[in-house]
Amino acid sequence: MAAGEKRADGTVPTPKERGYARRIVNRLAVRYPEITTALRYRNPFELLVSTVISAQTTDENVNRATPELFARWPNVEDLAMADHERVEQVIFSTGFYRQKTRSIIALAQDLVDRYGGVVPERMEDLVTLKGVGRKTASVVLAEAFGQPAIAVDTHVRRITNRLEMTAEDDPAKIEQELKALVPKHEWRRLSMRIIQFGRDVCEARRPRCWECDLHDLCPYDPKTPAPEGETS
Ligand code: SF4
Repeated sequence: MAAGEKRADGTVPTPKERGYARRIVNRLAVRYPEITTALRYRNPFELLVSTVISAQTTDENVNRATPELFARWPNVEDLAMADHERVEQVIFSTGFYRQKTRSIIALAQDLVDRYGGVVPERMEDLVTLKGVGRKTASVVLAEAFGQPAIAVDTHVRRITNRLEMTAEDDPAKIEQELKALVPKHEWRRLSMRIIQFGRDVCEARRPRCWECDLHDLCPYDPKTPAPEGETS
């Protein structure tokens, strides 16, 4: 879908709305000119597995566990045949390790059975893989394959709502809205920029509005005032 197509409610963004989105996108691009996922990976398979493991934990935690995981089971076929208990031991520190072990082994088996062990490059195929939703598929498409895709996680949902780029709560609808608002060439970096902005500035509980690059644009109310001794 290119910018100019419909949003989730069937409307097309106005030039004013697109202009507003462009200013936000441009400022985030200035703040984070070069940005990629913090997950370490060597190929699409490793990014796919790492993204599944990254649920409910930090990228740093994932990066501590995955070198051993991919050293012991270096390719899809190895992981598809891996012993569950041994995998659980390796990814234990990432939390929810039993569920994640089941997920990544089932995912590897699915890849072997249906795609010859090769990670597909299309959204419609990726989302049919066991345990892979649109967010994970978008991360892999954008980061590993360099394709235009927008991953909507909790940061993207929170911040685009605060900025009133969307009023939707459903991630698939938010993705659709952002794709209608933002030029296609910006899609690939947009999620990573918003996610990093959510970690650095527009935090969930206490957004750091007083030092925010988007303060003059953002309609969120009430904004957090500067702590005593700091100026905005
Ligand atoms: S002004 Fe506050 S709420 Fe708005 S984007 Fe910045 S940090 Fe977030």
